[in-house]
Amino acid sequence: MARANQSEGRASVSALVESYVAGRWVRATDDGTPVLDATTGEEIARVSSRGLDHAALVAHGRDVGGPAVRRLTFHERAGLLKALAKHLGQHKDEFYALSLRTGATQRDSMIDIDGGLGTVFSYASKGTRELPNDTVILDGSVETLGRGGTFVGQHVYTSRRGVAVAINAFNFPVWGMLEKFAPAFLAGLPSIVKPASQTAYLTEAVVRRIIEAGILPEGALQLVCGGAGTLLDELDEQDSVAFTGSAHTAQVLRNHPAVLRRGVRLGVEADSLNCSILGLDITPEDPEFDLFVKGVVTEMTVKAGQKCTAIRRALVPEPLVGAVTEAISARLATITVGNPADPSVRMGPLASLTQRDEVRKAVEALRNSAEIGYGDPNRVDVVGADPERGAFLSPVLLRARPGATEPHDVEPFGPVSTVLSYATTDEAIALAARGKGSLVASLVTHDPQIARAVTLGLAPWHGRVLVLDRDDAAESTGHGSPLPVLVHGGPGRAGGGEELGGIRGVLHQMQRTAVQASPDMMTAIGGRWTRGSRRTVGEVHPFRKSLAELEIGDSIVSTARTVTLADVEHFAEFTGDTFYAHTDAEAAAANPLFGGIVAHGYLVVSLAAGLFVDPDPGPVLANFGVDDLRFLTPVKAEDSIRVTLTVKQITPRSSADYGEVRWDAVVTNQDDAPVATYDVLTLVAKTWPQESTG
Ligand code: NAP
Repeated sequence: MARANQSEGRASVSALVESYVAGRWVRATDDGTPVLDATTGEEIARVSSRGLDHAALVAHGRDVGGPAVRRLTFHERAGLLKALAKHLGQHKDEFYALSLRTGATQRDSMIDIDGGLGTVFSYASKGTRELPNDTVILDGSVETLGRGGTFVGQHVYTSRRGVAVAINAFNFPVWGMLEKFAPAFLAGLPSIVKPASQTAYLTEAVVRRIIEAGILPEGALQLVCGGAGTLLDELDEQDSVAFTGSAHTAQVLRNHPAVLRRGVRLGVEADSLNCSILGLDITPEDPEFDLFVKGVVTEMTVKAGQKCTAIRRALVPEPLVGAVTEAISARLATITVGNPADPSVRMGPLASLTQRDEVRKAVEALRNSAEIGYGDPNRVDVVGADPERGAFLSPVLLRARPGATEPHDVEPFGPVSTVLSYATTDEAIALAARGKGSLVASLVTHDPQIARAVTLGLAPWHGRVLVLDRDDAAESTGHGSPLPVLVHGGPGRAGGGEELGGIRGVLHQMQRTAVQASPDMMTAIGGRWTRGSRRTVGEVHPFRKSLAELEIGDSIVSTARTVTLADVEHFAEFTGDTFYAHTDAEAAAANPLFGGIVAHGYLVVSLAAGLFVDPDPGPVLANFGVDDLRFLTPVKAEDSIRVTLTVKQITPRSSADYGEVRWDAVVTNQDDAPVATYDVLTLVAKTWPQESTG
């Protein structure tokens, strides 16, 4: 078991990192492989998965975790995520202390730990606001499939019955787990998390706090520390694997029989040669010049450049290459490298000595086509630590020679970036594309034409594009930060996967099915009233019913009302909307769509409200909008309209005494032709008279 001990300001971790399998913490059957402190080289933990029962692990997720999560509605799952994020927030000191041992500075840890918790909070909030309080999600509108309206189609999303396996890289032991777990949990999936062995002790500490809290249903989250062993052999068609790591491992997983033959879904976030482009419009005097330089230095040094989104290639207009190299070098010279516990240190060590060797090898390869502009990969001044025992490396800036190929092929996963020159916007786009697909690109420009041309040129090759200038710089979240509400992932070499992006990241993990049925069946299946299905017109006006009493299909058909010319004139004068089609008979007659004076659409909607409303105080508390309003047939003077209002969807809010009711509204004329259709959105008390909550 790993445990933080902060008595000496530096966390210590006891022997073997454990896994959480089928409801209990288990130790490997061997002594494990040592994991060393990135700064001191001391052994801090051992890690192994030898002897883990992978079959039991997967079965527990499928048979215990999955059913328990799927019993909850999206809102209930979101509520648990919020409680979980709050709970973990109380243990941040412990996580920060362990994070230090991975080589992370305070700022690096914040990105991993607070970034992870922020992602869970974001999914909690999105799940409540954007998903129904149900276990099925309806996708898009109902498609009419038969002329008579008795056969319709609707796409639905349901939870898959398998487990979501998350395999993570060493660089984000907390965020990496949570950014995969939160959307999977909302999607109704039990997760099996496998952190990279190098930093598994921090993930283990977080999972321990999660399990202790008892907030999640048992089986919703299991943990495998150490190698993946035979885990993938246990997976089949309802399971999925979300992988973040090297292109090499991605290749191994893509060729695994579970993926090739048993239909296991595989999402890959692999390495990426991200670029930042300085626009052709920028001179060294522009504020954008400094923004570009700062961006490159930040991405080289945060987490010692061990970020999948870091800038590996800086594309600079040819005449500015010298000035940019100088400016970046000058800034890099101010970066203190050393023990991340020392507050003066801006950049800590790499995660391990092996990692440092890998980066040195990558720099050697890059030197085939580039010269070093700043730094020495074999020498660095270190503050507060032994440079030989810790995995320290100087930031290294390279300057590519014309025709360089290595910068577009070799990913140095450390504080290394290469400056490349370009002459035209098209050349910059072509150079960016030589990364063969990346997670993110940034463009620093103040010219809207360049912004459009370059962004649209980059987009097919990238998952995210940041356009930075003096106007958004202060609020910009920067080149390297994936955000929970925006898509993270990139095409081609970056793996072709897609994560996050708000609710997109949830839907991505669910099964979309096209359902074909009669309107009544569709209403029953989806829990949302479908046009053409049965209505119930009762004695009691539906506005007199509380949320508990209302049922989908409850309706009111109003009396008819004649719309007079005086109504139209009055509305025009009263509101100031004197558009000619409502006020000028001659001009309106010449209008090809109307052929004469017509009522304002908003007058029709207002009159409809007057026809369906029940005016007395009651359970309907407020109207908070309309959706999908369409005016279909013009209303002329002396036309008679009536409205049919039907309860379409009922969504109780778990944190309030009321819920949302969506009503289907259809306004028809004397010929029964639809004049306007829309959804009315109201808030309705759960009980009426309302019970006091005080
Ligand atoms: P890695 O060696 O590929 O390891 C990644 C994960 O895969 C680890 O958990 C590792 O476990 C596991 N793994 C290794 N072999 C496996 C196998 N045969 N079956 C199942 N799992 C296996 O990558 P890394 O060195 O940790 O991470 C650095 C790389 O990740 C860089 O190239 C970086 O660009 C990329 N990365 C990408 C993103 C992104 O979002 N696109 C984010 C971060 C990092 P063990 O640790 O136990 O071996």
